[in-house]
Amino acid sequence: MKRRINICLSALSLIAIVTTVTGITAVYYGLFQQQVQDDLKQCAGLLAESGLFQRAGLRTEAEAKGFRAFEQEDIRITWIDKDGTVLFDNTAEAAKLPNHADRPEVQRAYSGQNGESTRYSGTTDMDTFYYAVLLENQTVLRVSMQARTAANVLKAAAPVLGAIIVLILLSCVLIGHLLTGHLMKPLEEMAENLDGISRIAVYKELVPFSDRIRVQHENILAAAKSRQDFTANISHELKTPITAISGYAELIENSLVDADSEIHIARQIRHNASRLLALINDIIRLSELDHSELARPFAPTDLLTTAEECVRDLRPLAESRNVSLTCHGISAVVNADRALLEEMTENLLQNGIRYNKEQGSVDVEVTIAEDRPTLIVRDTGIGIPADQLDRVFERFYRVDKSRSRKTGGTGLGLAIVKHIAELHSATITINSTMDKGTEIAVRF
Ligand code: ADP
Repeated sequence: MKRRINICLSALSLIAIVTTVTGITAVYYGLFQQQVQDDLKQCAGLLAESGLFQRAGLRTEAEAKGFRAFEQEDIRITWIDKDGTVLFDNTAEAAKLPNHADRPEVQRAYSGQNGESTRYSGTTDMDTFYYAVLLENQTVLRVSMQARTAANVLKAAAPVLGAIIVLILLSCVLIGHLLTGHLMKPLEEMAENLDGISRIAVYKELVPFSDRIRVQHENILAAAKSRQDFTANISHELKTPITAISGYAELIENSLVDADSEIHIARQIRHNASRLLALINDIIRLSELDHSELARPFAPTDLLTTAEECVRDLRPLAESRNVSLTCHGISAVVNADRALLEEMTENLLQNGIRYNKEQGSVDVEVTIAEDRPTLIVRDTGIGIPADQLDRVFERFYRVDKSRSRKTGGTGLGLAIVKHIAELHSATITINSTMDKGTEIAVRF
């Protein structure tokens, strides 16, 4: 990663330097060329207006010498006759120069146009700028000047450019190193010390990530702890009825049971066996529900129809405990797994009946509350202490252990209810008053 950041930064700065230098050179060289051409044009205009080149030849040697002074300014003045013969040149002997009729700027001047042109000389590695004008006597006056080419300018700047590039590349490597170090430090610290993640100082952009990791880590720890607790609880819960059954069996084995106690012992064995069965069933249900990846047959299901069926099924249990069971409300269709929905409603109703009083009642209502289909189970039972309202959904948590056992409870009913609600993205609210009753609402 560090290498990649370094390479990226270096490549970016190299591209930036090269494009900037090329762009600036191109723009400035264009302006420079324009300036040279303008200067030459002005110079040619002044010379043409001087009238000196209107006559057959330069009058005196002094005049010729005067033009030679231009040489020091790097300006070459050439006067060319109608046929291309060079009449005068301030940098060379005119007679020795070849015919100039073929020069593009001279040809353009003959045809009355602006005689501008630029030529590159390999010998001097310079560009020569020309400007030629046609005089009234049909001769041509040409002024020219040599200047560095764009490549030449770049070549001259190369050492400085090279030094800048090396400096920037070194800075990139250094910045890249510091940057990746700064970016990676909290991540490395987190990897080493997940437990102390909240104490690690992270930069702003990393806060959501570190929060997420912290929460996930805490969840994993909590899940591991709850699994451990659950396993310990299961062992304990299973042990009690098995120890009882085995104890009773031992009594029979040693012929210690008289005829009068036989029925009692048989009832105890059956009671403990059913408790064992109920426990195993609930544990299997919870473990099935834990596999949330299982595809479930979700379909539009009416909460009221389901509630009515559950009430019908549980009426015998309610009657056996002298508790009245009623159901009312409106149709409310939810997308649900019907079997799970029934199981959840039955668990809630069973609790309402089991933790009730003589002549008490349990009522199921299906309604739409805050735009959401809601199932409410109300009972007139013993109630749950306020400080334990949250805990009753924990696995194996019971307010009154002996009452739960006596009535056939496993301590897993509400854990299963909570699980099923979560699978349906439903929320549960619980309200209870001691000795008055409990109300549990499941909002879909
Ligand atoms: P259990 O099998 O013991 O009923 P649950 O998980 O269904 O287990 O319930 C947990 C505990 O919550 C119960 O043991 C009981 O003490 C309490 N509880 C549940 N429902 C009610 C209710 N409707 N009224 C009073 N107490 C209840």
